[in-house]
Amino acid sequence: MSELLQSNLKLHKRILTAIDSSGRALGCVRLLAVSKRQPALEIRKLYALGQIAFGESYLQEALGKISELSDLPIEWHFIGPLQSNKSRLVATHFDWVQSVDSEKLLTRLAQQRPTNKPPLNILLQVNIDAEVHKRGINPKDLHQLAQQALKLDGLRLRGLMAIPAIKESTQQQLHSFHKLTELMQQIKPLSADIDTLSMGMSTDLEAAIAAGSTMVRVGTLLFGPREE
Ligand SMILES: *Cc1c(COP(=O)(O)O)cnc(C)c1O
Repeated sequence: MSELLQSNLKLHKRILTAIDSSGRALGCVRLLAVSKRQPALEIRKLYALGQIAFGESYLQEALGKISELSDLPIEWHFIGPLQSNKSRLVATHFDWVQSVDSEKLLTRLAQQRPTNKPPLNILLQVNIDAEVHKRGINPKDLHQLAQQALKLDGLRLRGLMAIPAIKESTQQQLHSFHKLTELMQQIKPLSADIDTLSMGMSTDLEAAIAAGSTMVRVGTLLFGPREE
């Protein structure tokens, strides 16, 4: 059995176990395979094992792989820091953007989404632990930004994403994730399209799933450690 198949099976087992022990419905958590710093060939291999959604953080690197893999119907998610002068490339080549944290970015992505493509799926990134150097919006600005996103043609607001601070205990991890779940409950009534809560990575996916995550973003557990 290949290493990639083994890690993929192990990860799926962990995700299903976490869903089951939280008493949630199987199938309610999607896996986003974070393929930053991984070669296109690894993505191709994982796609062959049934993985459809891939997340990338570095735009230039991602564009090369998207072009190389254009024969596959991969769902591409942009999850990295996004400068507004690069927004056109993201609006053109990705299916989802999870790192939207300003009105300016929303407006540009909406204007720049090609009209022959379906609306761009948007997650608003929340700075859930109010960290000074972390990107993401302040929870108090969420409602206004969500309403802005819902007004724009070319975009489809799907929910929230966060990268909490690194915590020492599961209890602390749960605390941040529960805050995010609460914010999700607040914006959900705004639109039936709002269905995605992207939280949980290699080190905290069990806590995220227990708290209500619908999408975990996993790199290291799938592909092994990467060179940053
Ligand atoms: C790199 C990255 C991940 C995956 O992290 P792992 O610890 O390798 O699972 C998830 N989300 C974002 C936003 C990332 O940048």
